[in-house]
Amino acid sequence: GLPVVAIVGRPNVGKSTLFNGLTRTRNALVADLPGVTRDRIYGRAELQARPVLLIDTGGLEAAGDDVGTGRERQTRLAVAEADLVVLLTDARAGVVPADAEIAAWLRTLDKPLVHAVNKIDGLDEDAVLAESLTLGIHPYCLISASHRRGLDHLSGVISGGL
Ligand code: GDP
Ligand code: MG
Repeated sequence: GLPVVAIVGRPNVGKSTLFNGLTRTRNALVADLPGVTRDRIYGRAELQARPVLLIDTGGLEAAGDDVGTGRERQTRLAVAEADLVVLLTDARAGVVPADAEIAAWLRTLDKPLVHAVNKIDGLDEDAVLAESLTLGIHPYCLISASHRRGLDHLSGVISGGL
C-alpha cells in the first residue's frame, strides 16, 4: 500500500491545518478549540509527486496525562501504523515540557521522524530554531501551515525520509 505518514503533536499546534494543507482537502476538522479532532483522519496526499496516506491525529498529551483516553490511544495506533512520523510543534507557544516528552517517546521508536515547527509567521526564525532544536528530532522544517509557507520544503523532507 501507500507509505503512511502520521502527524502528531499537542492539541492546537496546527495538525489539522497542516493535514488540510498537504491533502488540499477540508476533511480534517480545524477549530480554535483544542482537541476537537478526536479520531484519526486519513487522507491521500502527493508529497513531491509521491503519493502517501496521511494521518491527522487528535492530539497527544504528555506521557502520563490522559492515559487510556481515546485520543491518546488513537495517536499511538496512528504512530504504530506510520512509516514516518511528523512531530508538529507550535513556535508561538514555544517548546513546552509536553513537547519534550512526546519527542523523547518518538525517539525510542525505530522510525524515521521529521520535526515541523509551525506558526512561524511573524516570528524570528533564528530564535524559533534555537529553541526547537532542543527537542533533538531531525530533520526539521520551519513552516506556517495556515499561510502555506514551507509546505513544499516539508513535503520534500518527508518524501526524502520515506
Ligand atoms: P490541531 O489541534 O493540532 O489540529 O490544530 P488546528 O489545525 O485545529 O489549529 C489550531 C489553531 O492554530 C487554529 O486556530 C489554526 O488556525 C491555528 N494555526 C494553524 N496553523 C497556523 C499557522 O501557521 N500560523 C498561525 N498563526 N496559526 C495557525
Ligand atoms: Mg486537529
